[in-house]
Amino acid sequence: MTAGLSDVPPDGQAVQAEPLRPRHCKPAAWKRVVLKLSGEALADEGGNNVSSSLVDQLASEISDVWVSLEVDIAVVVGGGNIWRGMAGSIGGMDRAQSDHMGMLATVINALALQDALERRDVPTRVMTAIGMAQIAEPYIRRRAVRHLEKGRIVIFAAGTGNPFFTTDTAAALRAAEVDADVVLKGTHSGIDGVYTADPQTDPDAELLGEVTFLEVLSRELAVMDSAAIAVCKDNATPIVVFDLMTRGNFRSVVEGETLGTLVR
Ligand code: UDP
Repeated sequence: MTAGLSDVPPDGQAVQAEPLRPRHCKPAAWKRVVLKLSGEALADEGGNNVSSSLVDQLASEISDVWVSLEVDIAVVVGGGNIWRGMAGSIGGMDRAQSDHMGMLATVINALALQDALERRDVPTRVMTAIGMAQIAEPYIRRRAVRHLEKGRIVIFAAGTGNPFFTTDTAAALRAAEVDADVVLKGTHSGIDGVYTADPQTDPDAELLGEVTFLEVLSRELAVMDSAAIAVCKDNATPIVVFDLMTRGNFRSVVEGETLGTLVR
């Protein structure tokens, strides 16, 4: 991978060579994917909001796909393990202020994931929807696409940059912007797809193999929030909801195996 002009720092020093993607990559089911992972996927039961072993497990799943499959990978990471805007506003905070805190929480998670990926020699860029140029690149669509074309994993942080939204909507929006083929919504807590009811409380809940955007909206199925579903529907971006915490699942989904629920 040759460094582009935009990678050359102003002082003209040579940039450190990035690892090459191995040549034995197999084709994947999609050319470009956006993986959405919730902040809670990083929190353990021992009270660690950002568990290094869970971050490393996720980095391992992502790097396995990066090493072995021909696919561009972008990741949108949530912040619910640290802060949710809604929780603050229930406690009396101004909602927009509280949402700003939530967006900053996603940046903490993104930096943790970047660190874990880089320790596995995977070239990674964090791009933030709120400017904080000292620690990450600002989100610029064309630049994000360029990183993906060069085989870098792009982690989109700070959601959409706007309060009153969620990182689910950020995933749908970024997928449309970078022309991704699919949003892969990774779940945790043992939920492996979309059910007719909450499987944790209703023993009759059934896993749906495939469902339409309209059904998700009209039956209020728990997939992603309605704004995210609307963006995916309008842009014909399918969503696969699958259990991200089972080892090998991310790779199986990117290889095209039928897992979880397809929404389209
Ligand atoms: N958030 C926001 N705008 C966005 C994305 C996120 O205001 O575009 C805030 C919001 O307060 C949200 C928090 O960031 O509760 C964390 O994001 P999210 O709840 O989507 O995280 P996840 O549930 O995926 O961990």
